[in-house]
Amino acid sequence: MKSIREIAADPNFVKGIYNYCDRWCEKCPFTSKCANFALNEDRFGDTENRDLNNKEFWNKLSGIFKETLEMIREDAERLKIDLDNLDKVEFQPMKDNENHYLIQLCLQYEKYAKAWFEEPVYIELESTKSKKIELADAFEIINWYMFFIGVKFRRALSVSPDDDEEFRFIETNGTAKVALIGIDRSLLSWNILVQHLPKSKYLLEIISILSKIKLVAENQFPNARNFIRPALDE
Ligand code: SF4
Repeated sequence: MKSIREIAADPNFVKGIYNYCDRWCEKCPFTSKCANFALNEDRFGDTENRDLNNKEFWNKLSGIFKETLEMIREDAERLKIDLDNLDKVEFQPMKDNENHYLIQLCLQYEKYAKAWFEEPVYIELESTKSKKIELADAFEIINWYMFFIGVKFRRALSVSPDDDEEFRFIETNGTAKVALIGIDRSLLSWNILVQHLPKSKYLLEIISILSKIKLVAENQFPNARNFIRPALDE
């Protein structure tokens, strides 16, 4: 079994590709370039081991924790940080963005979208399994990105002004870009639902909230759309 450091140092992997992706590894065309994917495959490749009740799974997980802790200790030593006296270190509190208009819209979207999946029309489709593949894909896509979009915008808004400029630019725009991609795909999926399902004011309202999020986000992060994420956009 390779160590985390060995996997991370493999030149076949694109550095940090997993920072600006949508974490949907099952659908990702870049798994062969991703150290995060390789690590998971190496440790949990056997699907049986994904069973949370499987003792082996937790043993492996605890192995990763130990390895990570060792790496943190090594890095701390190198940076002369005393991990046993962290109360003396001043931490910067994360910027509270919950009142930001963009996040408020995301919360509204999550609430409406989640509620739609509890609507009779959806439950009926699920239980009769009569839906077309296209609809099933749309459901899956919407669900994948439903909370992801807000999480990513929170992250993009939280990048510290104390970090160096290059890092700030990459982190903000890479993160906002993947959220925008999530919006595009979700909008497309909601539109598929509108085409196939009985016309509902509720569905249109959800699309309108999401479209608003898109506009506000593009305005908030004007460089995000054109930002080239390593490998993912090349
Ligand atoms: S880059 Fe692809 S394989 Fe790697 S974490 Fe992201 S989605 Fe998963």
